[in-house]
Amino acid sequence: MSEGLLLRNAQVVLSDGSVKRAAVLIEGGRIARITEDGAETDAGEIADLEGAFLLPGFIDLHIHGAVGADVTETDVDGLRKIARFLVREGVTSWLPTLVPAPDEDYKRAAGAIEELMAWQETASGEGEPTARALGLHYEGPFVNQAQCGALRTEYFRVYKKAADLEPLTMIANPRARHMMTVAPEIEGGIELVRELRRRGFIVSIGHTRADIASLDQAFEAGARHMTHFMNAMAPLHHRAPGPIGWGLLRDDVTCDVIADGIHVEPFMLRLVLKCKGIERISLISDAVAPTGLGDGVYQVWGGRIAVLRGRTSNERGSIAGSVITLSDAVRLMLQLGVSIADIARMAATNPARLLGVIEECGTIEEGKRADLVALDESGEVRLTIVGGRVAFNADDLEL
Ligand SMILES: [Zn+2]
Repeated sequence: MSEGLLLRNAQVVLSDGSVKRAAVLIEGGRIARITEDGAETDAGEIADLEGAFLLPGFIDLHIHGAVGADVTETDVDGLRKIARFLVREGVTSWLPTLVPAPDEDYKRAAGAIEELMAWQETASGEGEPTARALGLHYEGPFVNQAQCGALRTEYFRVYKKAADLEPLTMIANPRARHMMTVAPEIEGGIELVRELRRRGFIVSIGHTRADIASLDQAFEAGARHMTHFMNAMAPLHHRAPGPIGWGLLRDDVTCDVIADGIHVEPFMLRLVLKCKGIERISLISDAVAPTGLGDGVYQVWGGRIAVLRGRTSNERGSIAGSVITLSDAVRLMLQLGVSIADIARMAATNPARLLGVIEECGTIEEGKRADLVALDESGEVRLTIVGGRVAFNADDLEL
C-alpha cells in the first residue's frame, strides 16, 4: 500500500474545461494520477468526495488582510493567521498586497513576507498546511491622487529615477513574484513601467485616469494587466473612453475584478465577462483586515473602517476594500450562471498564468502540485488541500 491519498467520487474540473467524474491520486505533494472512478488503487488513504466539484485551489492576487491582520502593518505571525484563515475559503496561494505607506512600513512588511515564504518552504511536509504566499503586490504608491479610492494619498509618490523604487523592497527568495499597480499618467509613469519590467515585476494598470495614448505607451513599455477593473479608474464616457474603454476593447490585456457584487454591480460584471472573455479575467477579493470578523468598526490604515452587511466604508464615505474571500466571489459567479469550469479559470488558472506559476499549479493535471479545493453544489468549501496535505476539512467529510 502506498502513502498516497485518493480523492474519489469527485466531479473533477480538468484543464481543458471539461468536468469529469474521476478520482485523483495524490502522492508526494503532487497530482500523481487522474483515473476513472472505481479503478483499482493502492492509496493509503481514500476520501469520498460524494460528488463534490474538485477545482484547482484558488489564487488571490490582491488581498490586504483578514481576521484582524493587515499585510502592511502586521508581522509574520499575523501573516500566518491570514494564511490559516484562507484555506478555509479554498485559497491555496495568495499575493499579500501592500498599500502606500512610509518607507519603514514597506521594508518591515516585505521582510515579514520574506520570512513567511522561508517558513512555508522549511515547514512543508511537517508544519500545518496553510495558503502559500507567492511574493508581494504593491498597490501604488505611484498612482493617481484623483483615483485614490481608500489609499492614503500622503504616501503617494512620483517617479524620477530608479532610486525612487528603493524603499519598495524586493524579496530575495528566487520564487517570489512581484507585482505593482501603477498609474501610467503620473510623472515618470511610463519610464517606471519600463524599469519595473526590467526588474521582473508584473505591471498592472490601476488607480488611474490615463488617456488612450498613455495606456498604449504603458502597454508598449510592458504593462499587460489592469487592477480591480472599473474600480478606482476614470469612468467610461463616450467622448473619453479612458482606462475602462481601453481595457474592454484590448484583447491583449488581462484584468482582475473584485467580485463581491458591491464594487462592481452584477450587471456590469456580466458586461466585463462578455467583453473580456473568461480567459482574461482573474477574480480577486481586495479583502481588508476585518474580513472574517463580521460587522463592526475597525482600525485600518490609520483610519476607521465600518463594516455593515458586507459593505465597507471609511471616514470619507468611500468603499474601503472588501470583506469577501475568493469563495464568496465564486458563489457570486455561480449565481450569475457562470459554469464551474469557467470559475476555475478565473479563480485559479488565470491568476497562476499571470504570476508565472502555471507550470506548478492553477490547473488539475498530473505532475502539478496538489493544491485543490472541493466545493459542494452551492459553492461552499468542503475540503482544501495544499501541497498534497489536507489544510481544511469541513466537518461532514470523512477522511
Ligand atoms: Zn486593494
